[in-house]
Amino acid sequence: MNRLEGKTAFITGAGRGQGRAIAEKFAAEGANIVICDIDAPIEHIEYPLSTSADLKETATAVETLGREVVAEIADVRDQQQIDAVVAAGLKKFGQIDIVVANAGLLINKPFWETTENEWQVVTDICLGGVWRTVKAVTPHMISRQRGSIILTSSTSGQEGDPGILSYVASKHGVLGIMKSAALALGQYNIRVNSLLPGPVDTIINDNPGTRDRIAGKPNATREEYLTSVLNWHVLRGRSALAPEAIADGAIWLASDESRHVTGLELLIDAGHRLLPGLNFNNVADDDAGR
Ligand code: NAD
Repeated sequence: MNRLEGKTAFITGAGRGQGRAIAEKFAAEGANIVICDIDAPIEHIEYPLSTSADLKETATAVETLGREVVAEIADVRDQQQIDAVVAAGLKKFGQIDIVVANAGLLINKPFWETTENEWQVVTDICLGGVWRTVKAVTPHMISRQRGSIILTSSTSGQEGDPGILSYVASKHGVLGIMKSAALALGQYNIRVNSLLPGPVDTIINDNPGTRDRIAGKPNATREEYLTSVLNWHVLRGRSALAPEAIADGAIWLASDESRHVTGLELLIDAGHRLLPGLNFNNVADDDAGR
């Protein structure tokens, strides 16, 4: 407890899921919290995103834990909106010590059927949004010669997935931002690291399109998706992880316990990236190459 006492953390996409879990765990560790999320559906996204009621619920949870909160509706596609959240946070708390660029979404579709607009939406949020978030806090952190920047990538930042190419490309790109920003900001005592979750039980997964992709079958139920995730993992009995499992890693990266760590790709994936892999495509009948 109190590993983040006296610190302020800014978390994007905190209306629910991992962002909310991170806000709550950070507050429980003593941090004051600045959060943002959207309050409207985004074109092409086939599952519901957060609402202002969700963001309020996160804010109330933080307050219930005895910490103060600034909660604003903002879209990470818009630099002015992110800058306004940072300004509101600085006005109230005078400092931002930690940022978690967490907002993200995906579209399940073969890449050759993906439209220009669909590619734009995913990359503008998952990649562009991370760049804008880092950009918004960096001058302040440089002026204080301190800061911990945490960028949410994914196991999809290290491996391919045929059903979500725009997401995979973005999450690989997040690691490029992380490494480059870590190199640029180390001289100012600012650390930049990445979280790489495996499957987490949030709405980005628990929706019809993603359930089908993960389970490898059409019309997959919640139970089928959760059962199939067991085989994504090396560790026994782990289905889609709770968002709090990712928040536990975020606390370490945010706190002084990781003060000598920058440029880290922190996998929280129950061993998924160790697996040698399996091709689920129908390749058995092709005699090419024999
Ligand atoms: P989630 O869908 O519950 O949460 C994502 C949040 O981002 C939502 O609240 C959504 O409203 C918000 N968001 C989307 N577009 C936004 C925008 N333009 N501006 C501001 N907020 C926006 O899913 P989650 O699992 O909590 O996802 C959090 C992060 O973790 C995402 O970056 C996701 O890609 C990543 N991730 C998730 C998993 C998983 O299996 N759930 C695995 C690896 C990485």
